[in-house]
Amino acid sequence: MIQDQDYELFRSNFQRFLAEHVAPYYEQWEEDGLIPRELWYKLGENGFLCVDVPEQYGGYGAPVKYSLMLVQETARAGFTALAVAIGGQSELVSPYIQNIGSEQQKHDWLPKMVTGEVVVAIAMTEANAGSDLQAIRTQAVRQDDHYIINGSKTFISNGRHADLIVLVAKTDAAKGAKGMSIFLVDATLQGVGKGRSLKKIGLHAQDTLELFFDHVEVPVNQLLGEENQGFTYLMQELPRERLSISMMAMGSIQGAIELTAQYVQERKAFGQYLSQMQNTRFVIAQAEIKAKAAAAFLQQCINLYQQQQLSITDVAALKCFITDVQGEIVDQLLQLFGGYGYMQEYPISRFYVDARVQRIYGGSNEIMKEIVARSLLGK
Ligand SMILES: Cc1cc2nc3c(=O)[nH]c(=O)nc-3n(C[C@H](O)[C@H](O)[C@H](O)COP(=O)(O)OP(=O)(O)OC[C@H]3O[C@@H](n4cnc5c(N)ncnc54)[C@H](O)[C@@H]3O)c2cc1C
Repeated sequence: MIQDQDYELFRSNFQRFLAEHVAPYYEQWEEDGLIPRELWYKLGENGFLCVDVPEQYGGYGAPVKYSLMLVQETARAGFTALAVAIGGQSELVSPYIQNIGSEQQKHDWLPKMVTGEVVVAIAMTEANAGSDLQAIRTQAVRQDDHYIINGSKTFISNGRHADLIVLVAKTDAAKGAKGMSIFLVDATLQGVGKGRSLKKIGLHAQDTLELFFDHVEVPVNQLLGEENQGFTYLMQELPRERLSISMMAMGSIQGAIELTAQYVQERKAFGQYLSQMQNTRFVIAQAEIKAKAAAAFLQQCINLYQQQQLSITDVAALKCFITDVQGEIVDQLLQLFGGYGYMQEYPISRFYVDARVQRIYGGSNEIMKEIVARSLLGK
């Protein structure tokens, strides 16, 4: 069992891992549009996947903040596509199986997710149903001891490498939220198809795909929890996903400030360093001030989550606030790099393009505002 005082040591071990196993290769992975499968095994071997999984299922049983810190540090180093990949495995899917899975499902999947032997994706979104998840059309029809699944999903992170797909489908097409269920779908099953990698404006190393399900026979024992309770489970687990996105935002804000502070102390214009100009100083100071406010709100939400008291409203407010702040800050900091900020070889440009989607996925920021408004004004 990891002790709390090991937190900073764990962070520095992970920073070393990123410097050794990720930094030298990341540009190539961006060109390939894919993080290599071997990295998943390396992450597992070094104990950086699903660290909060209890020891009886192969994890460390570490406090959630350890797991969250890994996505923060990955984003801080400028590797947000990898942060999304690790977050998908450790922050999104693992809690579903830990909290809702049967004993058999936990034994079957969690230990392999910890070692990196199994990579997972979560598949909710469809071409005609993103924010409005109740409108999904993928169907699971019970037949004896199987469900027959038909449908398709889009924008699925970790899609290419996924060995396991946590799939949201309709088990009662006549009902909206009350007709949804969640399945653990082995990606090697006949009828599971993986489409082309989608070309994105950022997160270039992330394998974001369309997935197809053509008469896939999923054994009944791979239903997660109870039939037709899928929406309730999603509501229960979404706070962790939004917390993870917020951690990535925090990491990215910190990383962008660090990069910029260094650059402006090296670059001169009109005979003085950029760091000596009042505009530069104010922009960086303003970024730091907002970062401190964001960090305090984030820490408050992590504490609430650890006490199992983080509400959907609070985490929606956090996700919306911190990803908006991330967008503003990276945009303003990139400006301080002048033309170099627009060049791919300067990592600030990656912080910029990778930030944009943070306001869209995990529930768009408009949906986050709707949730907050509902808590004040009702429906
Ligand atoms: C890079 C990337 C990775 C992703 N990874 C995954 C993944 O791994 N798994 C997965 O299931 N999904 C994933 N998604 C999908 C993502 O969660 C959706 O794109 C997101 O929820 C928005 O849905 P949509 O794209 O259908 O937009 P829409 O729902 O069509 O929304 C379009 C616009 O309308 C606004 N809007 C919609 N409803 C309302 C409303 N009621 N009030 C006000 N405004 C509204 C939205 O905010 C948005 O601005 C990913 C997306 C991207 C881009």
